[in-house]
Amino acid sequence: MRSTMQDVPLAISQLLDHGSTVHGAQRVFSASPSGITETTFAEIGANAARLAHALAGLGIAPDDRVATFMWNSARHLEAYYGIPSMGCVVHPLNIRLPGDQIAYIANHAGDRAVIADASLLPLLTPLLDQLATVEHLIVDGADEATLAALRERPRPAGRPGLAVHDLDALLAGRPATYDWPELDERDAAAICYTSGTTGEPKGVAYSHRSIYLHALGTSVVDVLRMSAVDRLLCVVPQFHVLAWGVPYGALLTGAELVMPGSRLAPGPLAEVITATRPTKAVGVPTIWAGLLEYVQANGTDISCMTEAVVGGAACPPALFDAYDRLGVTLVHGWGMTETSPMGTVSRPPAGLSAEETRRYRLSQGRLAGPVQARLIGPDGTRLPWDGTSAGELEVRGPWITGGYLGDESGREHAGSFHDGWLRTGDVGTITPDGFLTLTDRSKDVIKSGGEWISSVELENHLMSHPAVLEAAVIGVADERWGERPLACVVVREGVTVDFAALRDYLDGRVARWQRPERWVAIPEVPKTSVGKFDKKRLRAAYANGELKPRLLIG
Ligand code: AMP
Repeated sequence: MRSTMQDVPLAISQLLDHGSTVHGAQRVFSASPSGITETTFAEIGANAARLAHALAGLGIAPDDRVATFMWNSARHLEAYYGIPSMGCVVHPLNIRLPGDQIAYIANHAGDRAVIADASLLPLLTPLLDQLATVEHLIVDGADEATLAALRERPRPAGRPGLAVHDLDALLAGRPATYDWPELDERDAAAICYTSGTTGEPKGVAYSHRSIYLHALGTSVVDVLRMSAVDRLLCVVPQFHVLAWGVPYGALLTGAELVMPGSRLAPGPLAEVITATRPTKAVGVPTIWAGLLEYVQANGTDISCMTEAVVGGAACPPALFDAYDRLGVTLVHGWGMTETSPMGTVSRPPAGLSAEETRRYRLSQGRLAGPVQARLIGPDGTRLPWDGTSAGELEVRGPWITGGYLGDESGREHAGSFHDGWLRTGDVGTITPDGFLTLTDRSKDVIKSGGEWISSVELENHLMSHPAVLEAAVIGVADERWGERPLACVVVREGVTVDFAALRDYLDGRVARWQRPERWVAIPEVPKTSVGKFDKKRLRAAYANGELKPRLLIG
């Protein structure tokens, strides 16, 4: 028997229409070096429509990819909504990648137009000659001289001509409404590439349906807890997994947004917080670690933020405790570019002891409703959810990717999937009540004498030592044990490092044989384009002989 329900496609245009009317008076605060501007959701709706008219006027047609090269801002939100609503695909480019990777990704996606912030032109302009498919460059905030210089640039032979436009001029006089087409909800709406922490960037195309369901499924109380009484500071860049879906949840729920633009260093970010007083936030651990240092040194009051969802990398327990003392609850979440990204969020059940609650908080969190998970052991068998059996996490669901862009046959990335499930490459346990604890990434776990050592566990303990600002642990070849941990430690300013004391500190925290004997002090842990510890670079530095560890014997 068929249901009697209407079959209305899930569409981003519907989220836009809803947010810009029902929540029309809600605001987006966009920060830049020249100050903070306010835009209402209603204005975002009107400008998204104007943008769609403008793009259509340039001949941008359904299915065309339109890239952005922008900071987080209201303008960037208009692109997030206008481009997919007209039937095109928005592709936020990662401004922090090396230039040749940005060009590779834009060419791979086949972007026809790029909308760029003028302040980012110094990064984009040198790449223009490498962009094989881009025909339109639309710049926000450039002066006439800059636009003229861009227009005069010769194009390499064989490339399409590049028309250069000023965004404001392009939007001026356009209608504030657009008759959004009814689209197939399974069509692509947006593209993001993985940040390449463990390999080359891979493209994931999100559909209208997956983005809509993700917005519905993650703004709820037990996940991101977004509502019209909140103002959410979105530190996660819009090019990093669509800012974790927050921009789409905002128009669905009416949660106001604070977009920090380029104001991401701890001092400017603290200023943005005191000026706009967000109640919630999302960001990777390194952002919160940097802000903490600043806030502690300057006595800034950030207690307007009741909570901050932290994910993208394991959050050290010491950071949870430090923020508790500031009155800000960190909430741990796990996800990937491939999972839209929300997979788990750690909100402990009620009625537990303080110790049990802490354990739940430190875990990666409970599976979001539509995300199915299973653990696969090294021998390929499915492991129980008993909180102790550790295996590779595999996931499946309506906002999990089933393949990668440009590999429709699935052959190139066959190893990433297993009977229709996504292999995450993350190793961990799941409790009977669905809380995931990651012990490590399969590529980062250290295999010492047939036993596993979790690099994350060592890092977390080291970072709870008062003298340690950052610590990253990598596996290095060892003649006797196959692999052993190398601890790369960043010591706080004004403190002298004593590796033996740090090793002793690990006594009782990890098994004795797991304590590293190789130690090196480094000025800073290298970070990826989205602010995660970049262990690939540490491994390369070690292989090149740039890291010279001290050996502690006995
Ligand atoms: P990306 O697609 O670049 O966001 O990277 C996704 C990967 O980040 C995951 O596969 C995990 O290895 C890691 N990750 C994300 N969130 C967490 C977390 N809360 N704890 C540990 N690792 C995480």
